[in-house]
Amino acid sequence: MRVYLDNAATTKIDEEVLSEMMPYFSEHYGNPSSIHSFGRETRSKIEKGRKKIADLLNCSPSELFFTSCGTEGNNTILRGCVNDLGVTDIISSSIEHHCVLHTLEAIKVEGKARIHYVKLDEFGHFDLEDLASQLRSIDKAGGKALVSLMHSNNEIGTMMDIKKVGEIAASHNALFHSDTVQTLGKYPIDLKELSIDFLTASAHKFHGPKGIGMIYINGDVKIKPFIHGGAQERNMRAGTENMYGIIGLAKAFELSVYNMQSNREHVEGLKKYMIEKLKANIPGVGFNGDAHGQSNYIVLNVAFPPFSNKDMLLFNLDIMGVAASSGSACSSGSSIGSHVLKAIGADSEYTSVRFSFSKYNTKSEVDFVVEKVKEIYAGELVG
Ligand code: PLP
Repeated sequence: MRVYLDNAATTKIDEEVLSEMMPYFSEHYGNPSSIHSFGRETRSKIEKGRKKIADLLNCSPSELFFTSCGTEGNNTILRGCVNDLGVTDIISSSIEHHCVLHTLEAIKVEGKARIHYVKLDEFGHFDLEDLASQLRSIDKAGGKALVSLMHSNNEIGTMMDIKKVGEIAASHNALFHSDTVQTLGKYPIDLKELSIDFLTASAHKFHGPKGIGMIYINGDVKIKPFIHGGAQERNMRAGTENMYGIIGLAKAFELSVYNMQSNREHVEGLKKYMIEKLKANIPGVGFNGDAHGQSNYIVLNVAFPPFSNKDMLLFNLDIMGVAASSGSACSSGSSIGSHVLKAIGADSEYTSVRFSFSKYNTKSEVDFVVEKVKEIYAGELVG
């Protein structure tokens, strides 16, 4: 038996999504920029997909742009804000994904903007008082601010109140970008209800294909392209469109939104079940982030109490057929190196493992995983 509990890293493509994409690998191959019938049929399918996504997000199709992934989306937005919108100061957090953190570091090194980090509590929630106070200082100094704060952390799952963050940003005349890669398709997002200028998404996180992402840019703001060349994506993102990707993203998003409630109930149930089973079987087990509060229902970051060979936990789980993650860039099997766990002050004596679920997981898989963890603790494999 092999169990995949690494759905925050990527998800299995949905069969329905794949069927929707297949004809565009073979029968319908026209370049969407071509004006003949072959091009027109693929163009039409792409625009139908964009319209469907826009309807579900409650925005205009002209505010959506397809990219190659979430990483490109975040780079495009952060660079665009600094280069084209006169942003002098960016307030972000130390627990953002590396594609945000490393871009901010590059912007800082190039001397293009000042970077500030909002305070966090022990669960990884942003300190909104601190955000408001930092915005006041930037305002006072005559700066132009961008707030870039994620909707849900990918390692520990902590959910952030982006409605509130948007309101605070707007009240200080600041722009607001949210990395919604871990929440789009899992939580309802109504762009008319949020005060938000930019968001980022990636299809492979919600049972769509890899290599395709999307950004929303509020129609009131205009940034220049990150990639130059052709006039694709209304001059915002040059390069022949990844047609099958776009078609897959649109279908995956549609399915995720339509089935959101039932998927959520199922996955939330698995997470709660695993928490209870771990508590009953592993004395001293803990959970990183706000596992019992505002937490993404797909992510469970477990803090395993010290034991011999703790650094081999992920490795041993893998041998036993369980795919999980340390949740950090460090893939050696230990949690050392996680900037997120460090930022929230997690106890480094504990071994942190991120288990992340999807609609395809089952209770018996959770039973299997907990059984394997128990075996490892009992020293049947290690030592
Ligand atoms: N942002 C967050 C919060 C993520 O979890 C990820 C991927 O893990 C990304 C951005 C990057 O997305 P992509 O893999 O599409 O580049």
